[in-house]
Formats: sequence, structure tokens, C-alpha cells
Amino acid sequence: MGEQIHVGIEALTGAANACERQTGTPRFGYAHHKWPGPTGQTEEKEGGLKTAPTREPHETAGGDTEWQEGEKSRRDPFGELRAGAGATEVRQDTSGKEVEQVGALRLRSGQVPVQPGTFYLETFGCQMNVHDSEKVAGVLLSRGYQQVERAEAARLVLYNTCSIREKAAQKVFSRLGGHKEALNSGQIIGVLGCVAQQEGEEIFERAPWVSLVCGSASYRKLPELLAELERGGRRVMGLDTDTDETFETEMTRRDNPFRAYLTIIEGCDKACAYCVVPYTRGPERSRKSDLVLAEVQRLADAGYSEVQLLGQTVNSYQDPSERRMTFAELLVAVSEVRGIRRVRFTTSHPRDFGRDIVEAIESVPALCEHVHLPVQSGSSRVLRAMQRTYSRDEYMEKIAMLREARRPVSVTTDIIVGFPGETEEDFQETMSLLDEAQYDGVFSFKYSPRPNTPALHMADPIPEEEQGRRLAVLQEKQRGIQTARNEKLVGETFEVLVDGAARRNSQWAGRTSGNRVVNFTSTEERLLGEYVLVRITRGGPNSLVGELVS
Ligand code: SAM
Ligand code: SF4
Repeated sequence: MGEQIHVGIEALTGAANACERQTGTPRFGYAHHKWPGPTGQTEEKEGGLKTAPTREPHETAGGDTEWQEGEKSRRDPFGELRAGAGATEVRQDTSGKEVEQVGALRLRSGQVPVQPGTFYLETFGCQMNVHDSEKVAGVLLSRGYQQVERAEAARLVLYNTCSIREKAAQKVFSRLGGHKEALNSGQIIGVLGCVAQQEGEEIFERAPWVSLVCGSASYRKLPELLAELERGGRRVMGLDTDTDETFETEMTRRDNPFRAYLTIIEGCDKACAYCVVPYTRGPERSRKSDLVLAEVQRLADAGYSEVQLLGQTVNSYQDPSERRMTFAELLVAVSEVRGIRRVRFTTSHPRDFGRDIVEAIESVPALCEHVHLPVQSGSSRVLRAMQRTYSRDEYMEKIAMLREARRPVSVTTDIIVGFPGETEEDFQETMSLLDEAQYDGVFSFKYSPRPNTPALHMADPIPEEEQGRRLAVLQEKQRGIQTARNEKLVGETFEVLVDGAARRNSQWAGRTSGNRVVNFTSTEERLLGEYVLVRITRGGPNSLVGELVS
């Protein structure tokens, strides 16, 4: 968790930031969220429910066009299971309770009827998971399924899971616990993503009502696995990580009407001692630059003006095509696609972050003035134990490069506190790094021991209480830094892409190129999806307040 999908309405209404570990500009990341399909409004994240921008027909060119294509090709993938559907009879189950029987699907009294040919998809974790879910939804829609908003009503219930920290993984099993009746109700339950990859067959043991387990490195097999389920398969599994393929889909159903996500590199070849990603997402595989550029053009044609390139280590991109574009060249080429106005990318690994990326940002206005560069710790000793492949000084050289850029680039980071063996002195080095780096946002986490990782058996674990103390101290300090930085922006004018609205009191929210959330008031009727100029009148720790100029 630590991130949110849609912007700072909470800041606008004065509510506290829902994320305990985030101090700073919200970005996509480790949220848990439920996009409700094409018309809904709520988004659930760890820490509470948020209002997501209402999707209106005029704002949804890209996403809805793709959705409609799915609707056109709809067919009933579970036709054979629907024999007698529509003819409802009431019977008693073994406990004597009345159940309705709709075709092959049995219901308890008062239960929402399971709708054949439907799916429910809930996503946990980083924006790569969010985007994987968009692709999974695309695969399902192209096979004729319809998305529904309630798990109880869906024939196929899918959880796209995150195992980056223990809490996230536990949450998935608690969700699965709510589906014990699946085999009786005719529902098919599937676990996708990192928990699927990590736990594998074990999931069938812990939750025997689950029928599909597919890890994130095996999504390309998903159509095959679905076909097997459609043919009546009881348990199907995709868990390969030894692939050099990326997850290409003919159709991606994009949920966010304002910003399109595009994975350019999957997996991770680094070996950070605390991290499950190399185990759950497999080795690095980059997409060919011509495929990336063709997709960006399609997105622009569909009405998207902002794209975000994704990868666990996005800047480790290696073009497998003959063009051999570097990451910086790809950034420039994406920015030059007709119709594209903003290009973001995340997450950059410090080791592969070179001057060419800064030069691209300096010279191409469409490249956003924001770099997320996770440091993890301010202590070179801890960085070495973490196997991060850089020292504090080497990292700070990258920060200096960014701070000296000809455009003001906002910089955000990730920090882990309480890594095994982290002394008070090490922690103080992280605190002093905050002073030095002057981040615009920090996503901070307590170290969480993960299976298969070298850190799992490291000596000197830090007690949870002490981890919590360090986290609180760090967040408090960073809050002060951000407040001071944001206050300095008062009087400046920024271009803002409006992507949030609280209609009743004419309040709007959007983001600057530097990814800062800006809230403002306007009686204009239709601002969602528009680029407007906003003059800043106030700066808070997590967002800015301003007034419309244009
Ligand atoms: N690839 C990115 C990088 O190299 O920085 C980070 C991707 S990781 C999915 C996102 C963040 O989760 C990491 O930057 C780290 O701060 C945090 N994280 C990963 N494993 C963790 C663990 N075991 N405990 C606590 N935080 C963790
Ligand atoms: Fe995990 Fe390190 Fe890879 Fe990032 S670079 S995904 S932290 S192993």
C-alpha cells in the first residue's frame, strides 16, 4: 500500500491522508483498490474508501471505446453450465435451509444470484498489478465475459494479489475465506498475481474452493487456463517464471479515464535482499520499442493525453528489437507521439539512472518533471546488506543531477525502516539523508520478512515496536520538509490535469507535471480531463491549494 489511484480529494476536504506510510504526493503504487468497472465511483484502499472521479461519457473516450468493443463481442463462455437458466426453483439444502436453484447455480435465500458469464476482479498492490488487472479484464471481455461490481454476483471471482509485505498477502487469504461456499454456489474463484506465484499449489490446500491459481509471470497463459475452466476443469494453474515473453493482450480494458498505464518491462533481475519481486514476477523482459510506440499511438487516438510507462525497474529497459532504443530514447519517442501531452515513468532503479534521462526531461516538455527514485536507506552499510548495488554517496550523485536539472524536477522515494541489523546510527543516517535529498514525497515502510528472500534469516531483527517508532519519527520529519517545500510554491502557476471532482462544493483536484496534487474551487461545469492553469495560494504537507487562472 502507500499509494492511491485517484488524487487528493481527502486533502481537499481536510481529511487525513488515508495511508499510514505515505508522506507526500500520492502516486500509483501499493494501494489496494477496486475500480468498479465503467460507471462506478468508489475506490477502496488500505485505510479507507475514497471517492474516485466520476466517469462521464465525455471524459472516457479511450477506456469506454475499448469496453464497447468487448461488449460487441460478448458471448456466453459458460453456456453449457447454464442449462435451464431462468427457470428458478426453490429446494431445501442438506441443512434444511431453502435455496433457490437457477439452472446449475444454487443460491441461499436472500443471496444475490450468480450471473453466468460474469467476472469480478479485485486488485491489491502496485500499479503494475493495477495495469495487469486491466489486461486480464481485457482478456476476459474479449472472451465474452461481463464485469460486475459485486463478488457475490459474479460467476468468476478473481483476486489479483500482492505479496510485497506480509499484511498484503494475509488480506488475500481473508478475502478467500469469504468464498467457502463457492463450489455450492457455482462460483469459480481464482487467485492471480504475486501471492499465487509465491504460494502456488498451497493455495488449493488452504482454500480448496479455489479453482485457478496463476502467477504474474504466467499471464500469457491465462486465455488457455480460462479455456480449461470453461471446459469444466476443476483446478488449473500457471506458475512458470522461466519465460522470456511479456504479457501481450489484444485488448486492454483501461479503468483510469485520464492516464493510461503501459508496462514496458516486466520482472526484475536485481536481487534486493528483502524483496519477493524477482521470485514472483520472474526475470526482466522488455517489450519491443515499436510495440510500445504503436500502443501509445492507439492510446493517443483513443483520447488519452497522459501515459505512464511501468516497470519494477523501468529504467533498466533493454529494447529487444533491432532499433535497440535506450530507455531515454524511448521516453523521447513516446513524448513525440501525436496527441500525447504528458509522459510519466515509474519505478526507476538508482543504479541504472543516468544523465541521459535527466537530459531527456530537460529538453522534452512532455516528459513530466518527476522522478521516483527509491533509496531504501541512508546508510551505506544497510544498503550493502540490502544488496541495493549503490552506496549513499553514489545515490546522492543522482539526486544532485536531478536537482541541478534545467527544469525543476520533483523527486520522491521509498524507504524501509527496521531492516535486520539497522542500528540507531544507521537510522539517523536515513534521517540526515532526508535533510540532504529534500524529497517531495516519501513512501515509507516497516521491513516485512518475506519468504525466499535472503533477509529472512538475517541476524538482529528489529522489534516491530521499534520499527513503528522509527517509521513515525521519519514520517514526522518528512512532513515538515514537504510542508516547507510546498509553501515555497505559493504564488507560482502550474498547469494541472484535472482528474478529481467533488461536485457539490465546486471543488476540483488535479496534478501538476511534477505530480503534485492541487486542489482548487471553480464553478465551471466540466473540468475533468482538462488541462488548466492554477495559481498556488497555499501549501500543505501533501497537497497544494490554488485558484483557477484560465
Ligand atoms: N523496484 C523498485 C525499487 O527498486 O526500488 C521497488 C519496487 S517494490 C515493489 C516497492 C517498494 O516496496 C520498495 O521500494 C520497498 O521500499 C518496498 N518493499 C519491498 N519489499 C519490502 C519488504 N520486504 N518490506 C518492506 N518494504 C518492502
Ligand atoms: Fe524488488 Fe529490488 Fe527488484 Fe525493486 S529492484 S523490484 S526492490 S528486487
